[in-house]
Formats: sequence, C-alpha cells, structure tokens
Amino acid sequence: MSQDISIIYLQFFGLIALTGAFTWGLMAAPMRIAPKASSLFSISNICMFTAISLYFFRSDEISYVHWYLADFIFLVGFCLLHWGGQQLFKQKLSISSNLIILSLTTLTMLLFPPQKAYSMYLMIIASLGALCVFIMIVKDNYLAMRASLSITYSVLLSVPFFLAAMFFFIRAILLLMYSDNAELVDAFTSLKSPIILWLYISFILSINCILFGNALTRLVQKIHKLAKKDQLTGLWNRHALMTRLQLVDALWKRDKQQYSILIIDLDYFKKINDTYGHLAGDTAIQFVANSLKSSLREIDFICRYGGEEFLVVLPNTDSDKAYQVAEKIQIQIAQKTLKWQLHEITIQLSIGYATIEDNLSVEQLLQRADDAMYQAKQHGRNTISTLPPTTVTQ
Ligand code: GH3
Ligand code: MG
Ligand code: MG
Repeated sequence: MSQDISIIYLQFFGLIALTGAFTWGLMAAPMRIAPKASSLFSISNICMFTAISLYFFRSDEISYVHWYLADFIFLVGFCLLHWGGQQLFKQKLSISSNLIILSLTTLTMLLFPPQKAYSMYLMIIASLGALCVFIMIVKDNYLAMRASLSITYSVLLSVPFFLAAMFFFIRAILLLMYSDNAELVDAFTSLKSPIILWLYISFILSINCILFGNALTRLVQKIHKLAKKDQLTGLWNRHALMTRLQLVDALWKRDKQQYSILIIDLDYFKKINDTYGHLAGDTAIQFVANSLKSSLREIDFICRYGGEEFLVVLPNTDSDKAYQVAEKIQIQIAQKTLKWQLHEITIQLSIGYATIEDNLSVEQLLQRADDAMYQAKQHGRNTISTLPPTTVTQ
C-alpha cells in the first residue's frame, strides 16, 4: 500500500480518535456527565491517536520514540479505557494490576533494541500486554452490563472488547507462527496493511460507540433514581412507593407472609419551624430520616410521604412485629436530642400502622395506616395506634 493511502487511513483514524477525545472532553467539563470516566476516555483516545501516529513514522533506524514510547502510550490508552469503564460503573479500580502489566510489558520490551529487525519480538510482547488488559476489560464490562441487562445484551455489548482481545492474541500467534515471513511482519510494523488499519479504525469507532452507550445508560439510570428520591433526606419519595408496595403485595399474595406499613408523623412540627426557623425544621426532618435508616432493616422501604410524614413498608412483618418496630423507632427518637445552634430540640412521633389481610387492597391498607396515624394524634400524640381488624371496609 502506498504511503499516501496509509496517510488517509491514519487521518481517518485520527479524525475518529480526536472527535472522540473532544466529545468526551465536552462531557467531562462543561456537561459534567460522568466527569472522571469521560476525562479518562478523552485522554485514552488521545493516547491511541498519538501511538498510531508514532507507529506511522517507524523506519529501519533505531528509535525509542517510535517503538518503546509508541507501544507504551498505546498500552496506557488501553489502561485508561479500563479505568474509565470501572469509574463509570463504580467498580473497584484495578490500578495496581494494570500498572504491573504495563511495567512488565515495557521492561520486557527493553530486552530488545528498538528497531525493525526486532519488530517481531517487540510486537509479540506489546500484543500480549494489550491482550491482558483487554481480558480484564471484557470481564469488567460484562459484569457491569449484567447488573442491569440480560446475558444476551451483556455479551453483545462486550463483543468489541472481546474482538480487541482476540486481535492482539491472533496477532501474537501469527507473529510467532510466521516469524520467517518478513513481509507479513513488515505489514504489521509499518502500517502498510489495509486490514490492520481497518481493524484499528473499526476498533476505535466501536469502542467509542459502546462507551457512549454505557455513559448514556448510566446517566438515564441516575435520572430514574433521582426521580424516585427525596432531595432533602435521600429517602425514596411517593413516586417510588406504589411500585414497591405492588411488589411487596404480590409477594404477600404468593407466600402469604404478611407485611405491614407504618405512617410516622412528627408531632407539633409547625412549632419547630415557627420557633427555630425553617432550616431547623429541615434539619429535624433529616434527623428523623437518618434515625429511620439506622434502625430499620435493609429490606424495609422508607419513603418521605409528605412534609414531615414518613411511610415505612415492612415485608414479612405481622401486626405484633409492626408494633415492636414502631416502638423501637419511637424510643430511638425519644432518646436523642437534636442540637440546633444553641438549642436542644426534642422530637416526638405519632405512628399509625396497618397490616395486610385477605381482601384488603393496597389503597385500603394505606388508608387504614393513615387513619391509625390520625387516631394516634387524637390519643394525645407521641403514641402508636392501629385500627381493629373489624373496621376493614371492602
Ligand atoms: P401535628 O402534631 O398535628 O402533626 O402538627 P404539626 O405541626 O406537626 O403538623 P401540621 O400539618 O400542622 O404542620 C406541618 C408543617 O410542616 C407545615 C409545613 O409548613 C411544614 N413543612 C412541610 N414540609 C416541610 C419541609 O420540607 N421543611 C420544613 N422546614 N417544614 C416543612
Ligand atoms: Mg405533624
Ligand atoms: Mg403531617
């Protein structure tokens, strides 16, 4: 292939890599979409473009820049790709494993002079280093996808990384098998092979597309989650309540394990606002929310039901146990005092609870818990109340 055509391929690769770097940069800084991961992906694209450009200038002469440095930068680009993916999906960063691969690869390459005569050895070592990084990327990407997608989609979205791993594996094997075939090796080293150039181009394009897809999926997941969360307390909001209640109700219908709900209302909350100010009121709401989080089980669902009202769904909990939970919550709050500036604010709760029974709908259950809470208010506040089963309306 002529030098001119090679340059066009290189420019095409550069166009994709630099567009990728620029777009990731935009996502990282002004848009603030997964900023850490986006920055890593941006630098990764720049590294890959720099490495390929350096490959292009390889000649018969000894050159540390065009051999060692180029391969080192390429591997750094792959590692950044790996860390970016881990950052995106909140996985543990495998910095030490990647650094071990990076240093072992480059140190082994130092055993050979950086020139075309040794290109086969240098390329085998670099390919094996890249293979190791890509095996780790395939594994992490698959696990990240599996957290929210089916096996089929998770496998499909890991294919480009797998193909990249295969590319480096096959290249190392071919170089070993055809060590005498200088032409083939030459095609690999000086970017004269259109197949290799097309592979590089497809690689950078598909990897960037998959990563954009991943970043957008992550963003949509975050928006969905935020839409179901209460800003002040970080608890679930009413929007999320019905979905959870339907789920718990379906489990009850299947397993006949009763569940209960509590409606918790702060007593004389208006007085806290009026006496100490709205900020103190907000702090009191957060204080109760944190206390609920710490005293309930992982499987319990806590939501901010209204201004100073909370609703808790307790799966596998009958009426007696629901009372015990309500009592525990009340005692915990009573034992603590909220320090607000120089004041100590005591908080009291009225709790109404209701337990699911046959022929009781979710809406009726909510109504019963609400009625029970108002009953607790009528009984003088700072109390726990429930309706007798006979008041079930059908
Ligand atoms: P009761 O003992 O009968 O429950 O009386 P209360 O004063 O607690 O209840 P009431 O319903 O009369 O007042 C609730 C107040 O809560 C009214 C509203 O201004 C205030 N509120 C609602 N949401 C918030 C909030 O997010 N922050 C603050 N600081 N106040 C809120
Ligand atoms: Mg109140
Ligand atoms: Mg209220």
